[in-house]
Amino acid sequence: MTTTSPPRPGDRHLARMARGAEAIRPSEIPTLFAVRGRTDVVSLAGGMPNLDGLPQREIGEETAGLVSLGGKVVLQYGSAQGLPTLREQICEVMSLEGITADRDDVVVTVGSQMALDLVTRIFCDPGDLVLTEAPSYIGALGVFSSYRADVVQVPVDDQGLVPDELRAALQAAERAGRRPKFLYTVPNFHNPAGVTLTVERRAEVLGICAAHDVLVVEDNPYGMLALDGRTFPALRSLDAENVIYLGSFSKTIAPGLRIGWVTAPGTVREKLVQAAETTTLCPPAFTQAVLSRYLARHNWRAQIDVYRDSYRVRRDAVLDALAEHLPAGSRWTRPEGGFFVWVTVPDGVDTDALMPWAERHKIAYVPGSAFYAQGSGRGGRHLRLSFSYPTPERIAEGVRRLGLAIAEFRSHDHHNPRNG
Ligand code: PMP
Repeated sequence: MTTTSPPRPGDRHLARMARGAEAIRPSEIPTLFAVRGRTDVVSLAGGMPNLDGLPQREIGEETAGLVSLGGKVVLQYGSAQGLPTLREQICEVMSLEGITADRDDVVVTVGSQMALDLVTRIFCDPGDLVLTEAPSYIGALGVFSSYRADVVQVPVDDQGLVPDELRAALQAAERAGRRPKFLYTVPNFHNPAGVTLTVERRAEVLGICAAHDVLVVEDNPYGMLALDGRTFPALRSLDAENVIYLGSFSKTIAPGLRIGWVTAPGTVREKLVQAAETTTLCPPAFTQAVLSRYLARHNWRAQIDVYRDSYRVRRDAVLDALAEHLPAGSRWTRPEGGFFVWVTVPDGVDTDALMPWAERHKIAYVPGSAFYAQGSGRGGRHLRLSFSYPTPERIAEGVRRLGLAIAEFRSHDHHNPRNG
């Protein structure tokens, strides 16, 4: 029996939508966050920052002060490129990773997600080639798909993107007469792989890209969240001409501010500002002013330390629990920062097929397949666990449930419990 869903208002307009609209697929992101209100489910799925340490009082005071003193300015339209003082402060943040930049090099965006969208928009025509890691950030794959770019994914290992694999992918593209528009990479505390590109490999990856004349898009929302407080040299600090850098305050202050940025070589930056203007006219003047005032008047470095401490105990909790509850034949990465652990389950367990068992044990994770471009069929033995949000106790309980789900899956000969 086939079931057809009832017609919905607007259905008749679907046929006239652009082909680009067809390529905008339902994102997994809302479903990842959907279970967060369910107290019976332990969600290690969505990667929400933990805001227990949020400097709420300070942000509240700055906001109130701004409205009463400068409301007529901060609630007015602002510059398309972003508030100049905030751009200067962003340069100060980037200097911690070795980047020398001027405020004119920076464009403020509505989260780094918007920066990723703008970069793809100005570089990619339908059918253009983009390289990224295998696995890769879901939100980036969604953007590439919406611009109908072709994605080739290059494997990572414990030291990040594998240079030889990158070389091979570029050579294969060259043989096919194609030059990728850019390499999109998350070098620090990768989402979802949890790995960090070693310093030696940074130079190598940049050298390979330069030799093949391929631009690099460096997405770095987690770089300040090393659990031991260190920072790695940004790719942009090593090659300012050939790297577009995306940054964000979502994980270091709060995602609800929706403030990210892109730092790019002059001509690219100009085009990005023009593109941004057609999307938003200007980024929100109000949240920029709140953030700028907060950064100017409070110890934001100490605030990041507070977040780091809270993530360290959570990372330890997830690693301890994995060692205790996952069966022999499982492997996982050992993140030294960020939010994610990438788990490989034993041969014979498929993480998409495992979902109903996980549901029964009330544990949510993201199956590996979500992090591969559509149709690649990879990711079957992998899953992503996010340790950023729940308490350490809930994380341990979640991993225990995951262990139970895997054991049950293996003992039931893959019979789907949803079918009775
Ligand atoms: N890039 C990566 C790798 C991410 O994990 C995220 C958020 N999960 C983003 C970009 C987008 O972050 P935002 O738009 O909040 O800055």
